[in-house]
Amino acid sequence: MTTPLLGQMMDVPLTVSSLIAHAARHFGATEIVSRRIEGDIHRYTYRDCEKRAKQLAQALIALGVAPGERIGTLAWNGYRHLEAYYGVAGFGAVCHTINPRLFPDQIAWIINDAQDRYVLFDTTFAPLVDILAPQCPHVRGWIALTDEAHLPKMQTALPVPLLSYETLIAAQDGAFDWPRIEESQASYLCYTSGTTGNPKGALYSHRSTVLHAFGASLPDAMSLSARDSVLPVVPMFHVNAWGIPHAAPLTGAKIVFPGKDLDGKSLYELMEAEGVTYSAGVPTVWLGLLCHLKDAKVRFTTLKRTVIGGSACPPAMLRVFEDEYGIEVIHAWGMTEMSPLGTLAKLTWEQSQRPPEEQRRLREKQGHVMFGVDMKIVGADGKDLPWDGVAFGDLHVRGPWVIQRYFQKEESPLIDGWFPTGDVATIDPDGFLHITDRSKDVIKSGGEWISSIDVENVAIAHPAVAEAACIACAHPKWTERPLLVIVKRPGMDVTREELLAFYEGKVAKWWIPDDVAFVDELPHTATGKLQKLKLREQFRTHILPTAVDVPDCPFPEPS
Ligand code: ADP
Repeated sequence: MTTPLLGQMMDVPLTVSSLIAHAARHFGATEIVSRRIEGDIHRYTYRDCEKRAKQLAQALIALGVAPGERIGTLAWNGYRHLEAYYGVAGFGAVCHTINPRLFPDQIAWIINDAQDRYVLFDTTFAPLVDILAPQCPHVRGWIALTDEAHLPKMQTALPVPLLSYETLIAAQDGAFDWPRIEESQASYLCYTSGTTGNPKGALYSHRSTVLHAFGASLPDAMSLSARDSVLPVVPMFHVNAWGIPHAAPLTGAKIVFPGKDLDGKSLYELMEAEGVTYSAGVPTVWLGLLCHLKDAKVRFTTLKRTVIGGSACPPAMLRVFEDEYGIEVIHAWGMTEMSPLGTLAKLTWEQSQRPPEEQRRLREKQGHVMFGVDMKIVGADGKDLPWDGVAFGDLHVRGPWVIQRYFQKEESPLIDGWFPTGDVATIDPDGFLHITDRSKDVIKSGGEWISSIDVENVAIAHPAVAEAACIACAHPKWTERPLLVIVKRPGMDVTREELLAFYEGKVAKWWIPDDVAFVDELPHTATGKLQKLKLREQFRTHILPTAVDVPDCPFPEPS
């Protein structure tokens, strides 16, 4: 056997610290602008950001945090959160971004599952920390992302120290070399809704994060560049804000962080003030922005492109953006388990020579895979289905930034080396993916998951409920909202209002169904499994009471 001939290039691992180090060294003066929780606008540069990220790394090491340990964040999009991205992962610890919109019990479960050592939090979340602290025995301290003067007044004495971020990092000088770490080490941890049971963690590696950042920046992907001023509306607690906090330093793009105010007016004003050319978010956010443009009779003067994903971009939204405002929409699909980018609806040269309506139809789909992801659709027998735009089946993916298994779970979700996404799709002869349905038991409201099973379990605990099913119903603002379908116990009665009131304090407010429908029976398979597809079909034309008085939207049709 002959020994393989190895390449003779430098053995430089792909680590996330190299992204911020690159930006600080080669785009040192490029700005990072943040609307702060304190209310003001903060601006500094990549150079400043790296120095403070190093100070944070030093501070965490001084607190005894070891590589591999998890540090949680409960924070909006802002410069301190970006420092945490690099200050934590940069020395080999794992930055665990937590979704603060979940119900406190779920957040505590997630913090405990991740065994976070410290949690960094924006002061808006102080009331939440009051609830979480007694339930999280692994946490050694809660670090408020503010200075000593703005430390929040906690309702109860925390069982562990409450620390000021600014005080902690001020004690360090930033004279710190990012350590060499293996590219296979963990970088970030993001939990996604469990379809059965508890949320599940996707644990990215340095290598997967850097490769994803490269891929995301490509011209036929997000196409970020040093000439862009990018405002990620998608939260940094949601799949690493789709990789923008990594792709922006890689390309040298200016970053504008919106903080906690994501209404149309606040976003518009910040975009105009900071010359934002590029943005990314879920359809619900863009709806708010379009409503503002229409009501205030204003236009964007600098925005050129926006990525819309997380839920299907309504075709009418794409048209309004492009035809009325001249802004290119890039429809994208992905998921937490994929870091998240998978496909983007960009055309080839040949496709862009086709009639305009045909081009539109392609771009309304979820798009073409980017290098780094492969996909296929399979039928119930597990066999590949044709790419004819008609046959639909389970969508499976694989690639270097797709998960192999969930955090703390032994068994692998893969089937023959492919990850089953839980989405149902067609792929056309152009290789364009079109998501047609979802086989996983979840509802996506405003870009965030609601577990239908959790919602059903609450209903079933009600004495008058024999059987419950929770399904997604189309909604013009939130894309989907939960509808609860109930079979009552014989001889017992319960009203819609009583059932909805039963949810108070048991789940997050936005998880409470928008409506309840009472039926005599639910559709089941021969083996007794609930047929959600059939049920969704049955209620396809159901109009939720919350869907009728949505204020004058640019496109009132639920899509
Ligand atoms: P993200 O919201 O960033 O896409 P999540 O893991 O929260 O990541 O959600 C992923 C799921 O969201 C996908 O499996 C799919 O069901 C849905 N999804 C994401 N993007 C789209 C899209 N463009 N069209 C339709 N569904 C989408």
